[in-house]
Amino acid sequence: MSPTCPDGLPRAIRHWIGGAAADSADGCTFEVTDPVSNTPYAHAAAGGRPDVDRAVAAARSAFPAWSALGNRARATVLTRIADGIEAREERLAAFESYDSGLPITQARGQARRAAENFRYFADVVVALGEEAFRQGQEQFSYVVRTPIGVAGLITPWNTPFMLESWKLAPALASGCTLVLKPAEWTPLSASLWPEILTEAGVPAGVVNIVHGIGEEAGQALVDHPDVPLISFTGSTDTGRHIARSSAQHLKTLSMELGGKSPVVVFADADLETALDSVVFGVFSLNGERCTAGSRVLVERPLYEEFSRRLAERAKRVTVGPPSDPATEVGALVHPEHYARVLDYVDIGRKEGRLVAGGTRPAHLPEGNYLQPTVFADVPPDARIFQEEIFGPVVAVAPFDNESEAVELANATQYGLAAYVWTSDLRRGHRVAHAVESGMVWINSHNVRDLRTPFGGVKASGVGREGGAHSVDFYTESKIVHVALGEVRTPRFGGKR
Ligand code: NAD
Repeated sequence: MSPTCPDGLPRAIRHWIGGAAADSADGCTFEVTDPVSNTPYAHAAAGGRPDVDRAVAAARSAFPAWSALGNRARATVLTRIADGIEAREERLAAFESYDSGLPITQARGQARRAAENFRYFADVVVALGEEAFRQGQEQFSYVVRTPIGVAGLITPWNTPFMLESWKLAPALASGCTLVLKPAEWTPLSASLWPEILTEAGVPAGVVNIVHGIGEEAGQALVDHPDVPLISFTGSTDTGRHIARSSAQHLKTLSMELGGKSPVVVFADADLETALDSVVFGVFSLNGERCTAGSRVLVERPLYEEFSRRLAERAKRVTVGPPSDPATEVGALVHPEHYARVLDYVDIGRKEGRLVAGGTRPAHLPEGNYLQPTVFADVPPDARIFQEEIFGPVVAVAPFDNESEAVELANATQYGLAAYVWTSDLRRGHRVAHAVESGMVWINSHNVRDLRTPFGGVKASGVGREGGAHSVDFYTESKIVHVALGEVRTPRFGGKR
């Protein structure tokens, strides 16, 4: 066990079903490790079909009362959840950082974002109205929105609590009850939900949490006939599999999947700001960020200088224990993931020119640490250009003109985020329009406005969440038409 384990660390992480902690029906558990010592610190309940069945049944019986609660009452509960998260910011960040390897300062930021998600959707739900349409004096139509039912939420291990909040807040705001299946590598922060939700007055059964392995607990949720909606964030391969399984029940799906997001830097860009943004965008959150700018395309006149300075900056990034406030890049989440990232580094040595990192920092002999790694001169058919590495590794390549920049930016299966740096705003917008991605930032790093749609195109996902898009997703709309005046139906079958 790591010496820096946080206060109150549980030794057993249990399901939360119908308002009570629960073990798996068959008593199975799995070991949970931290990424610094890579030794077990707790056992988590390993859920299977019977546990998912119980959780879905609890969510179904809580649904009528929760969905019938007025918008304002639900908003009040959401606000209290935000208060509860904020009150626990330090413990939450310590748990997250310990379990996932995120630097503690960044884990604090993610805890604040989780609270913001609830505050934001509390406001959205208060404003939730019905749409109405009138056609002259004759016809009136209105849309009734109803929560879809029991939502199945499946989340990944990067920034786990924040991503859980990103789904819980709109699902609850919309009147759904839910079953959450957190990622098995990082179940620790989810163990704080029960006390936060109970304190906020969320009735028993509204939120249920089933821990476990994806292929068992996650699959059981996807297969369950009483779960009409799955919101999934994770890898593209798992997303494809879930989409196939969901076809049986024609479920409503949101898929937030992988990325290999390009950063296009033109020679007229503000070099210092672009460099800051590139370094932060690919190395923050340990590079385990879906929107990481992991391919940097630089216009030829700036290319050598940019690559050299990026390498210099990467060498100066502070890699260290996640709990140290000075740490900028912590430990990668799990030895299996660490090995996968190291494999990509080996592949990259043959495909590009290693100009920074590529090895474990000498002062950190244990733990899943990697010095931020930069490969220059990476050709577009290289695996490190094409495939999501999900670690502190960046591929850099030159381009000669705008159309080549767009072609290279679009040359992978992914389309989540893109970034453009130029002082020519017309060009910035042109490139933003031509790039195949769900989100583009021009002369800006990854700043979000919670009202805006979040999601990707191509292999990066299906659907959008965020703002009104989330409410659309978690509700069904029904149109009701009524005649106000005389009804003139075309008469079939002769006279009356
Ligand atoms: P993953 O696909 O391995 O697992 C994600 C979740 O799915 C986990 O909870 C896992 O247990 C579950 N799962 C696995 N198999 C399942 C199955 N058969 N049925 C149901 N559930 C199953 O992904 P990961 O490695 O945890 O996360 C990293 C990936 O997530 C990266 O590709 C990253 O880009 C992506 N991601 C995307 C976004 C986004 O918004 N687009 C955000 C964060 C992470």
